[in-house]
Amino acid sequence: MAEPELVDVVVVGLGVGGEEVAGRLAEAGLTVVGIERDLVGGECPYWGCIPSKMMIRAANALAEAHRVNELAGSAQVRPDWAPVAKRIREEATDTWDDRVAVERFTGKGGRFVRGSGRLDGPNQVRVGDQVFEARYGIVLGTGTRPSIPPIDGLADTPYWTNHQAIEVEELPASLLVLGGGAIGLELAQVFARFGVQVTVIEAADQVLAIEEPEASEVAARALRADGVRIETGVRAGRVSHDGTTFTVHADGTEFTGEQLLVVTGRRAHLEELGLDTVGVDAAQRYLPVNERMHVTEGIWAVGDLAGEGAFTHIAMYQAAIVVADVLDHMRHANGGPDASGTASVVGGAAGAASAVGGAMSAGGPTAAPGSVPRADYRALPRVTFTDPEVGAVGLTERQARERGINVQIGYADLTASARGWIHKAGNAGFIKLIADADQGVLVGATSVGPAGGEVLSALVVAVHAAVPVSHLRHMIYAYPTFHRAIEDALRSLK
Ligand SMILES: Cc1cc2nc3c(=O)[nH]c(=O)nc-3n(C[C@H](O)[C@H](O)[C@H](O)COP(=O)(O)OP(=O)(O)OC[C@H]3O[C@@H](n4cnc5c(N)ncnc54)[C@H](O)[C@@H]3O)c2cc1C
Repeated sequence: MAEPELVDVVVVGLGVGGEEVAGRLAEAGLTVVGIERDLVGGECPYWGCIPSKMMIRAANALAEAHRVNELAGSAQVRPDWAPVAKRIREEATDTWDDRVAVERFTGKGGRFVRGSGRLDGPNQVRVGDQVFEARYGIVLGTGTRPSIPPIDGLADTPYWTNHQAIEVEELPASLLVLGGGAIGLELAQVFARFGVQVTVIEAADQVLAIEEPEASEVAARALRADGVRIETGVRAGRVSHDGTTFTVHADGTEFTGEQLLVVTGRRAHLEELGLDTVGVDAAQRYLPVNERMHVTEGIWAVGDLAGEGAFTHIAMYQAAIVVADVLDHMRHANGGPDASGTASVVGGAAGAASAVGGAMSAGGPTAAPGSVPRADYRALPRVTFTDPEVGAVGLTERQARERGINVQIGYADLTASARGWIHKAGNAGFIKLIADADQGVLVGATSVGPAGGEVLSALVVAVHAAVPVSHLRHMIYAYPTFHRAIEDALRSLK
């Protein structure tokens, strides 16, 4: 049995959240061991946000070229996937090599270990034959993996997850997409714009099921205009593959395609983490945390694993909280004052800890000066990068009504706004506002349009800071911007 090696902090999983925590604590002077079994950086840079947005950028360029015919003469485009695949391989992922990311972490003073980490009793993590004992804490940032539904026959077929879809060098002629959520729609539209015949099969009654029904309708209409077949309310019962073609059998109908992409959600694999050795129930969907991302004595979680939203911006937001709380915990452990005072840190982390505090107030979660911030998800933004983009923050109308809020709705059609009318081709969209009439503030909003995700930022500020609706009504909105439709929607609140 290996002797445990004593270090300050062990971080298991160096995806977006884990890498941020490990790097910042290492920069703060702590001895940090970061353990990653696959690629440092995680899903986002290699198989998620970044390569998928490169694909979307290319697909949108094609769509804009088609719009020339309506606005500026004529244009003929010949889609070619080769430059997209090359850009993902060479610019985004270094052919799925994380050398640069590992050096980024070790350059901050962290110690990198490649392998699968697992809790091994209080304060201990095992990776292969090595055991590390954490003086101040263990941070779990192991993320999620695609959740594959137990559909008869599916497991025996060579289906794609997001990994194969992102790595693809040559496009199939046709593609079945199982799952009409954000990832499914983004990839469906990209592939359709490159000439693939795409069918989206969604069990719920609408695509983007968690968003406003109006957003779902606009997105579905846009994808259909790109040639995507969308089948909602359809539950796949069986999947087969005959060597060249996939068949999805659903409610008496058969859908066929050369390839099948399964994007039906993601799952945290808590059973792999040795949680039983620290008295935490692993039979849960996600790892429950408190508002400081604390799981149990000496253990924090960050990112998708915590189940508060599967977004890179959530992982980064939570990472800032974990860093501050681990440093606060260290101050306590060393007999220092608590975080509400003007704490200085003992040991090598002294100056850097206050630097972290400064960074927190500049860009991280809000908190009184010197204190550890608490996670607050009221103004959680989310963007589906279809064309048009679907941005949303806070509660949907249905969620607000279910909470018993005295709801007022404001709505403005983007095509009827000055900028929407000027924009013409590709101008579909709207602003929908959900106000709490008793409090006089917005509790949610949706912004769909050519720049829906960017327009959303103003609405995120409004929800986050609970800006009174009366103030929002008396702001000046630049003419003729897309975000001016917010003013129209405010005027219609009732
Ligand atoms: C196609 C796609 C598009 C997306 N687009 C966006 C987007 O536009 N915007 C956005 O905000 N989010 C997007 N996301 C979501 C985003 O990628 C995730 O929210 C983010 O990566 C979560 O970071 P994380 O650190 O929690 O986990 P991950 O990035 O999943 O990293 C977890 C890491 O832990 C490692 N690991 C797991 N178990 C162990 C173990 N036992 N020991 C050692 N290492 C382990 C894994 O190998 C992995 O590298 C997208 C996701 C996908 C799939």
